[in-house]
Amino acid sequence: PRSTRPRPMHVVLAAPRGFCAGVTRAIDAVERALSQFGPPVYVRRPIVHNRSVMQHLEAHGAVFVREVEDVPEGAVLILSAHGVAPDIIAAAEARNLRVFDAVCPLVDKVHREVRRHHRDGRHVILIGHRGHPEIDGTLGQLPAGAADVVATADEVEHLPETARGPVAYAIQTTFAVEEARRIVESLEARFPGIAGPQGSDICYATTNRQSAVRTIARRVDAFIIVGESFSSNACRLVEVARAAGCENVQLVADLSELDFAKLEESGSIGITAAASTPAQSVSAVLEGLGRSFDLSTEQVGNQEEGVTFRQVALC
Ligand code: SF4
Repeated sequence: PRSTRPRPMHVVLAAPRGFCAGVTRAIDAVERALSQFGPPVYVRRPIVHNRSVMQHLEAHGAVFVREVEDVPEGAVLILSAHGVAPDIIAAAEARNLRVFDAVCPLVDKVHREVRRHHRDGRHVILIGHRGHPEIDGTLGQLPAGAADVVATADEVEHLPETARGPVAYAIQTTFAVEEARRIVESLEARFPGIAGPQGSDICYATTNRQSAVRTIARRVDAFIIVGESFSSNACRLVEVARAAGCENVQLVADLSELDFAKLEESGSIGITAAASTPAQSVSAVLEGLGRSFDLSTEQVGNQEEGVTFRQVALC
């Protein structure tokens, strides 16, 4: 007779996973602004790249807008964790808005770096993804033409001749660690003496989450990344899992997006969450798996992060 017991499934949870200190700080800024000033509190663009976080804040009176011009004069405006160009802040102030910038301190550090390179007469090469808000904000620190953006090592060869002379590079905080290493090697070959950051601009949260995925991906049959397809750090986790040899990778924003059919051949699953994914979304996925399989779980990774940032000052 066929057993009705669910099939065993081993789940390897990545540590660390989920919220980083910059995301926690940005969400906290909106929540405190709502209680301090009362709704509505306007937020330019997604405060962090996660729809459930945005829906939660909207339910409490946050209003997400695309541009500063969409905010009524005199209102409270919070700027997202990804950072913005100074002209956006100037436009908001010109509109008489009470502006609070929730830019992550680690993105702000990259802003200061590129401004310093520019002041020192260096052309800046930004390793990052064009069109991502963080890259828009970092490019916006510099006059037009003072920087180029590359996303792959191949693109380094095609950088314009104008990038000759003193050159420096900086990296998007959520970029893939391995790909950045290849790009930096190509840059150093093409521009000997190129200046760069001490260590890396890729933040601790990105580095730790990618490293845990790399370790786990080698030993599981499938990987579930809980995060949004428009989140840079979530997409990088998918790439890292695949590059480490796990082909069966699903990026799901929540349980409803999980394709159980793709787990039919699997006996073990790795699970992680992007830096903008609430712990609750991971719990919901685990509960869903628990209804279909006989789960055993373990946690793999060795990073106790213990990073916190000072609150955004709301005065
Ligand atoms: Fe800051 Fe890194 Fe989190 Fe981005 S992913 S908000 S840079 S800590």
